Amino acid sequence: MDKIKMTTPLVEMDGDEMTRVLWTMIKEKLILPFVDLKTEYYDLGLLHRNETKDQVTVDAANATRRLGVAVKCATITPNRQRMEEYPQLTEMWKSPNGTIRSILDGTVFRTPICIDAVKPVVKNWKKPITIARHAYGDVYKAVDLETDEPGTATLTFTGVSGKTQTLTIQTVDGPAVWQGAHNKASSIRSFAKACFQYAIDTKQDLWFSTKDTISKVYDGAFKRIFEEEYEGYKARFEELGISYFYTLIDDAVARVIRSEGGYIWACKNYDGDVMSDMVSTAFGSLAMMTSVLVAPDGTMEFEAAHGTVTRHYYKYLKGEETSTNPMATIFAWSGALKRRGQLDQLPDLTAFGEKLEEACFETLNDGIMTKDLVSLVEPGFAATAVNSGAFLDAIAQRLAAKLR
Ligand code: NAP
Ligand code: MG
Repeated sequence: MDKIKMTTPLVEMDGDEMTRVLWTMIKEKLILPFVDLKTEYYDLGLLHRNETKDQVTVDAANATRRLGVAVKCATITPNRQRMEEYPQLTEMWKSPNGTIRSILDGTVFRTPICIDAVKPVVKNWKKPITIARHAYGDVYKAVDLETDEPGTATLTFTGVSGKTQTLTIQTVDGPAVWQGAHNKASSIRSFAKACFQYAIDTKQDLWFSTKDTISKVYDGAFKRIFEEEYEGYKARFEELGISYFYTLIDDAVARVIRSEGGYIWACKNYDGDVMSDMVSTAFGSLAMMTSVLVAPDGTMEFEAAHGTVTRHYYKYLKGEETSTNPMATIFAWSGALKRRGQLDQLPDLTAFGEKLEEACFETLNDGIMTKDLVSLVEPGFAATAVNSGAFLDAIAQRLAAKLR
């Protein structure tokens, strides 16, 4: 069999710990035997980020802007404990995902991988629900103040022109707490563009919710900017038979629970933080959640939503076999290859990505799965827990049969 050809490389960002181990296994067992893989490789492993003073992360993000598609392995975001674990670190480097997100000005879309054997907690959910979380501002960039006497707080904006605008927030008769939050019109606009673009790319309806009945100016601006941006995408939406639907956050929550799924739910930063945890928990497992960062121009970076699975890595280092679930990382690869195929008009590459996903589903439907999933399957479904290597071999076998 001839290997499937690529014309433009993908940006490949390697990472840390157990997911780095899986990364190599996935490439060797599921990609390289079948695809004439072209990548621009960037090693985002913690020690290499340290050696390059994190320049490698910036380079990888810039390469993604240039090439349009990236696939990323999970990476360690150093904290105090990691500084002790890796004494050679010269700085507590920032989260690579944060760095990449700000360079690409992107929005993160998280989607669960659903299988028949693992039913969502919400019985009527039949299709995945994708959460798009705005990743800038609001309470995450707010300033807080605590005061201990009666008085008045005001909000003043001073423009570069020298013009000022002032509002009284409240006059209080005793101790109080205060918060100053903001968002930028440009960031809201990028968020809206990424959402509309992703809805078109995945042919799904887009829902957006805020609380503009209460927050008339602040949330009202989100609603208005989305409406303005929608004008530029409306024709494509109509052509594809998909819709844009705005509603209040409380109404959205009720509708989501009663829905069948199968759409994108765009949320403001805090709503997205909370709702993505709720939706992902209700669908089953962190190990089955994919994530894609979408820039307003359609540039995409695919990854798993989970981290580097540290506990499994330390077992692996002791020579023990682990049953770490590679599904989300495989789907990052299949997603990136499908996108590359779509952009470069290489139907064989797109079909390969689809077949790889089908082979994964067939393996799971045959009851071959990693340990984390075995504990979630419906009663009566016969499942066997295998280690990561055996799971990947079972997928490879089914994939090879499909490609013959
Ligand atoms: P984690 O790596 O997602 O793992 C948390 C726990 O979830 C694991 O210990 C494991 O449970 C289970 N789990 C997650 N993925 C799994 C998989 N594929 N297969 C089987 N079980 C899985 O989160 P964490 O322990 O909080 O973070 C570890 C490191 O990852 C941190 O250094 C953090 O900075 C980094 N991180 C990176 C990203 C990213 O790059 N996008 C995202 C989040 C975290 P059991 O141990 O019970 O089996
Ligand atoms: Mg959270």
